[in-house]
Amino acid sequence: MDINTQCIHGKNERNDATGAVTFPIYQTATFAHPGMGHSTGYDYSRTQNPTRQQLEETVALLEKGVGAIACASGMAAITAVMELFSPGDHIVISDDLYGGTYRSFHKINEKNGISFTAVNTSNLSEVNRAMQENTRAVYIETPSNPMMQVTDLAGVAKIAKEHQALLIVDNTFLTPYFQRPIELGANIVVHSGTKYLCGHNDTLAGFIVVDNEVLNRKIREIYNTTGACLAPIDSWLLTRGIKTLGVRLERQQENALALARWLGQQSWVEKVYYIGLPEHPDYELSMRQSYGFGAMISFTTDTQERAIRILEHVEIIQFAESLGGVESLITYPMTQTHAAIPQEIREAKGINDRLLRLSAGIEGIEDLLEDLRQAAENRT
Ligand SMILES: *Cc1c(COP(=O)(O)O)cnc(C)c1O
Repeated sequence: MDINTQCIHGKNERNDATGAVTFPIYQTATFAHPGMGHSTGYDYSRTQNPTRQQLEETVALLEKGVGAIACASGMAAITAVMELFSPGDHIVISDDLYGGTYRSFHKINEKNGISFTAVNTSNLSEVNRAMQENTRAVYIETPSNPMMQVTDLAGVAKIAKEHQALLIVDNTFLTPYFQRPIELGANIVVHSGTKYLCGHNDTLAGFIVVDNEVLNRKIREIYNTTGACLAPIDSWLLTRGIKTLGVRLERQQENALALARWLGQQSWVEKVYYIGLPEHPDYELSMRQSYGFGAMISFTTDTQERAIRILEHVEIIQFAESLGGVESLITYPMTQTHAAIPQEIREAKGINDRLLRLSAGIEGIEDLLEDLRQAAENRT
């Protein structure tokens, strides 16, 4: 079935007696038992709620997973996944991760006895070299944030498998519409559902998708125990957002490509990072492993003053953290999304005081270009 049809109808929209076209919000904390030892299939909403289940089944279907779990935020999803590991375990990670993920690994997991080696996962021999006897997982984002480096998913999956380690992929930037890591050998996919899956900058959510039943049971037990579950109304909002995933992403990608091309022609732009540009070093790899390039662009300006001038003068594009929604947003990774990363690591990756990250929304492209132009050239 076409992914657009799956986005709209999920696995099998359960119709109730009223004929409601959309799945209802079961705003209930608990469910009455029909009798001793009997359950309707639902007992308590932390364990499962029909509205959340509807969403989870849709996400599992889109990501080609065995099961999906909907969490209260992307960080809640990542935190739950990390409970799979024990003191003494080692994990190889991308050296260009979302700042909050980096913070969680270093502030929470290291304290609990898990160690990490950060490498450029776009370079498979670096990944290979970092694998140890006690390596239990490889954790990557591709494309990476904010430097847009692409990792060869099948290649890294092979290395992880050879070492009996799990491959965990944060698929927030491309979503299953453009990239399906489980098809390429990943064992766990995580998402900040707050971004493209929600798509409207109005709800926090996270997902964990797994490729096998054993992992599904383990993570569901962790989730039921730790309790960072997605509320019924938020589950409903995510189900609604996902219905338009395809049309939003096609339009966002179209805008992103036009923005990236235009930025590349401006004298005040030093460098543009967008994986959909044929001159991007990983363009061929993206063509092979993904179904699209997404709508995230980073670029460096000529001076720090210029970067700040843009942030302070954009009018349609909003100066805000986050990404993926229908509203275009621009952010300053150095002090916002990546503030938790030590300065020397940040600078080595190119996250400097002239780097901006732009999430293309679905506004009219001429308005977006004009907004960037007037902000960059603003003299007030
Ligand atoms: C935003 C983000 C997260 C964290 O998700 P929240 O929903 O904000 O908790 C994790 N990974 C990536 C790539 C993100 O962009």
